[in-house]
Amino acid sequence: DRRKLVVGNWKMNGLMAQLGEVAAIGALAADHGDVEVGLCLPATLIAAADGQKGGAFIGAQDCHMQGNGAHTGCLSAAMLAEAGASWTIVGHSERRQDQGESDADVAAKAMAARAAGLNVILCVGESLDVRDAGDAEAVVSAQLLASLPDGASADWLAVAYEPIWAIGTGRIPTMEAVATMHAALRAALASRIGGEAGAMRILYGGSMNGENAAELLGIADVDGGLVGGASLTAAKFAPIVAAA
Ligand code: 13P
Repeated sequence: DRRKLVVGNWKMNGLMAQLGEVAAIGALAADHGDVEVGLCLPATLIAAADGQKGGAFIGAQDCHMQGNGAHTGCLSAAMLAEAGASWTIVGHSERRQDQGESDADVAAKAMAARAAGLNVILCVGESLDVRDAGDAEAVVSAQLLASLPDGASADWLAVAYEPIWAIGTGRIPTMEAVATMHAALRAALASRIGGEAGAMRILYGGSMNGENAAELLGIADVDGGLVGGASLTAAKFAPIVAAA
């Protein structure tokens, strides 16, 4: 009985002019109390969005692994929490690629987030080469276990499976492939955290939209979605929340 979790990731999109969309998504969330809805916003919008969030939570997209110090341009989990974030993404593939974040970095960031009271969405996913080689389940399971922080619990951590080749491309895996991956990830979690794995939410992300959401969210081990492009407006996000 895992409550569905549907989260928008705005990535590097959004100025104050888009706060109306935050408010509209917050109203949408309030109308769907059965679903946990959130928006992971650019850090510059978090404080302003806090007053517009309605039934949604506001999250960040990354945090630093250290509590403070000489790290120009970076933001600590405590800073994000103070601004109004209650969750943060860690380990998104765009950061693993663009910022060279390792599995160990991701685990450390998750621990730092937890220490500051933030809930965590930990992202994993395979490249197209790995998918084509037939290794996706093994590679992503290993990535998850290497990125999982000590003490990971369903109370504060959710996993997002995001195949890199499905992000922003309009391509998604077959429903069978998604089901197989999510079952493999839950088994990997069980090998580390035992029965707690049954309570942990595993989200799907990558080109989720109003057309494919119902089918994706109907898969047994798919407990929600992490949505990029289709979370930027309430009009596009609404059918996904409604499908959850
Ligand atoms: P899209 O929904 O735009 O494919 O992005 C998915 C994603 O990366 C969410 O974190």
